[in-house]
Amino acid sequence: MPKALLLENIHPFASENLRQHGFEVVTAKGAMDEDELIRALDGVDLLGIRSKTSVTPKVLDARPDLTAVGCFSIGTNQVDLDYAGSHGIAVFNAPYSNTRSVVELVISDIISLMRRLPAHTFHMRQGVWDKTASGSHEVRGKTLGIIGYGNIGSQVSVLAEALGMHVVFYDIEEKLALGNAERASSLEDLLEKSDAVTLHVDGRKANTNFFGEDQFARMKPGSVFINLSRGFVADLDALKRHLDSGHIAGAAVDVYPVEPKKTGDSFTTPLAEEDNVIITPHIGGSTLEAQESIGHFVSHKLLDYWENGITSLSVNMPTLNMNPCQGRARIAHLHDNLPGVLANVNRVLGAENINITAQALSTEDELGYVVTDVDTMPSKDAIEELKSLQGTIRVRVLP
Ligand code: NAD
Repeated sequence: MPKALLLENIHPFASENLRQHGFEVVTAKGAMDEDELIRALDGVDLLGIRSKTSVTPKVLDARPDLTAVGCFSIGTNQVDLDYAGSHGIAVFNAPYSNTRSVVELVISDIISLMRRLPAHTFHMRQGVWDKTASGSHEVRGKTLGIIGYGNIGSQVSVLAEALGMHVVFYDIEEKLALGNAERASSLEDLLEKSDAVTLHVDGRKANTNFFGEDQFARMKPGSVFINLSRGFVADLDALKRHLDSGHIAGAAVDVYPVEPKKTGDSFTTPLAEEDNVIITPHIGGSTLEAQESIGHFVSHKLLDYWENGITSLSVNMPTLNMNPCQGRARIAHLHDNLPGVLANVNRVLGAENINITAQALSTEDELGYVVTDVDTMPSKDAIEELKSLQGTIRVRVLP
């Protein structure tokens, strides 16, 4: 019976799914340090972790038969991806499973800031009854500027239009405008038009300090600013100056240039004293629904790789998507990206008179991956020969 080890309180859907597919599943609530993990990996085929367990070369060396690691998280920094790839261990994550949660928080931030809810709450806590419509607006008919029209930005666009907002967006790539959204001719154009500006750019290095003094200065007087993307993208000192001057009417920030490592750690931000500001501890994607959705997504990815050799959306394998096996067996051959490996695989199969019913090859950087469906189960000798071909990293025969 294959075995899966799931750490860090991964959503129960994942263990159920794996059990239904014939796995013995061992779960643990917390993370494990290197030595504990090495001991626990004995006999394990699939490992599931969240963000607090590090999968180092030492861990991977201790369990060379490990087939795949599922990061039930968005990030994958906790795993040495190159080392895992070069040792034939596929790694998967859940890049999109929490996007809806982020989108809903953005919508709530826009409405809250435009109604000055943080300022009203702040004054009420201080015992001040400040019943006024001054500075409060409906979002209907206002212009929302979305910077970064990817998975999250484009969903924000759809929900904002449903609230009656007019949407303009700016992206460095060509993107299909959804609904009635309009592409801004430039970043400056977007900033000058928008009553609310929301950042949804990705974490590429070039986006460091992307939004600073000049961009805040270009924003419409009285507009609001929202950043739930990455902390290093926006200059919070510049934001504070524009809030203090009254040029920017409010801000919601969920991500910071430096964030505490764990729950309970202390934290400071220049925005703490501002009254119309929503500051949240990087919880944009943190909902129970997102956790469940991550449990679904990653456990399905692990099973698809285990059963069918599919590497689609793996973060360290060449991408290969194929229909279920169209023959008696499927041979998944992972190798160094060298010339001639495909020809050698076919030569070994041809020598046994095995007919290939389907085949696909994918290469990426240092790795090559060929999946071959055959009409006859190859002999033990043929499988050994495939394993000994020059450049071979791992061979799996999937029934
Ligand atoms: P994505 O990769 O789908 O979209 C990012 C978009 O930004 C792309 O279309 C890209 O072309 C565009 N882009 C990049 N740099 C740009 C620039 N300088 N100007 C204009 N456009 C630019 O990413 P996504 O899944 O939509 O996520 C967006 C951001 O949200 C990421 O930074 C992600 O890390 C962050 N995020 C935060 C939370 C949270 O808890 N706060 C949760 C999930 C994701």
